[in-house]
Amino acid sequence: MKKHIINLLNKNEFKCSGCTACANLCKSHAISLVADSEGFIYPVIDEEKCNECGLCIKKCSVINMNGIPDLPQNAYAIKSNNNEIRKNSSSGGVFSLIMEDILKRNGVVFGAAFNNNWILEHSYAETYEEAKKFNGSKYVQSRLGSSFIDVKRFLSEKRDVLFSGTPCQISGLKKFLGKEYENLTTVSMICHGAPSPCIFEKYVSDLGISKKEITGINFRDKIYGWKNYSLRIDYRLQGKPKSYICRNTEDPYLQGFIKNLFLRPSCHDCKSKQFSCGADIILADMWSCDAILKEFNDEKGVSLVIPFSGRGSNLIEEIKKESDVRIIKTSDGLLWNDSWIKSSAPHLRRDKFFSLIHSSNKPASLIIRECINPTRKELFNKHVINIYNTVLYYINAVIRRIKFYLFNYKLR
Ligand SMILES: Cc1cc2nc3c(=O)[nH]c(=O)nc-3n(C[C@H](O)[C@H](O)[C@H](O)COP(=O)(O)OP(=O)(O)OC[C@H]3O[C@@H](n4cnc5c(N)ncnc54)[C@H](O)[C@@H]3O)c2cc1C
Repeated sequence: MKKHIINLLNKNEFKCSGCTACANLCKSHAISLVADSEGFIYPVIDEEKCNECGLCIKKCSVINMNGIPDLPQNAYAIKSNNNEIRKNSSSGGVFSLIMEDILKRNGVVFGAAFNNNWILEHSYAETYEEAKKFNGSKYVQSRLGSSFIDVKRFLSEKRDVLFSGTPCQISGLKKFLGKEYENLTTVSMICHGAPSPCIFEKYVSDLGISKKEITGINFRDKIYGWKNYSLRIDYRLQGKPKSYICRNTEDPYLQGFIKNLFLRPSCHDCKSKQFSCGADIILADMWSCDAILKEFNDEKGVSLVIPFSGRGSNLIEEIKKESDVRIIKTSDGLLWNDSWIKSSAPHLRRDKFFSLIHSSNKPASLIIRECINPTRKELFNKHVINIYNTVLYYINAVIRRIKFYLFNYKLR
């Protein structure tokens, strides 16, 4: 085993985020990206080709973490004026407004979209019609492919480039480029974590929906409202249009995502938290809207928008014309959105889940339910703890009462 590549191969020690910077930078083409049994891609090194230059380690965004920027005092609560855009976006449709602005300047937009085979991958678009495919959060880790190389090419052609991705993808792109570009704008999000693509594939197939029949997938359908979002899969069965629609509180896939059952291992120790990825703008759902701007929430989605550079602030000024905007304190906007600072802890039964997925022939929805629902023992323990806490509460109340009477008695 060669000395300089050992870290990349030890998955337990090295929490690779799959950003692809190492593979795209390797001059000897010694690194390929291969999916593991959970469906996440990792760098695999061809020792024959590797000349031990160490560039992969020098440019790795997990090994070489970025600094944490100061939190701007103010942020924005923004809703696009276009209700159609908001309907197709996760929160307030701000990403759409930003991409429209870049495209107007003959720019190129990079984002995550499903390909013809319903695999999520990063690609680019040069027209607004084409770029609509990027709208909406997809709760699957996207494959970056050669997008970093394409970004660099467009930048060197002096085109304006907008790259949108999870914080670890932005960190990777910055490491890959190795310098700042005036014509590059990066947009990221507060990220809960990236789920396994192969679990989603199995989930859909176990629902009895074949890939060939799918006509659309929306992880944030707003038919029951923004907070009550649903997973929606539109498909055709014997020529007739059908839809699977299930709220996030009921749908096993969304529940498994929310409860961290099948996130990438690096998401449990994310090195791009606290906005350290270096993006110009961070987008998020403004879950604190009811608490600080109740009248602003029409349940069609509100984005929290935080600028981290002059370029980011200028872009926000541009999109103000097309949207409804409120200036808020950044700390207020971040309430109820812990993912900006904390990595998601793995679910207690994450390992059991993957072992069942590989060994059992039960449908994915059943396995997810089995793993996220508490066992009888856990339920029993929970009841015992509840009874214990209630008894303790009443004992304390009685003690307090006795102390109160004794104290008053002494005073008399
Ligand atoms: C995996 C994931 C986890 C998230 N976790 C949180 C969270 O914990 N808290 C929170 O407030 N917000 C979270 N978000 C962000 C949020 O859902 C919205 O993306 C954000 O509010 C922007 O919404 P929008 O309406 O402006 O635009 P949208 O149209 O919803 O923006 C979509 C943008 O996100 C990009 N995108 C979509 N899916 C992916 C993906 N899988 N990988 C990389 N890029 C993708 C698209 O390329 C596009 O640029 C998460 C998003 C993703 C993808």
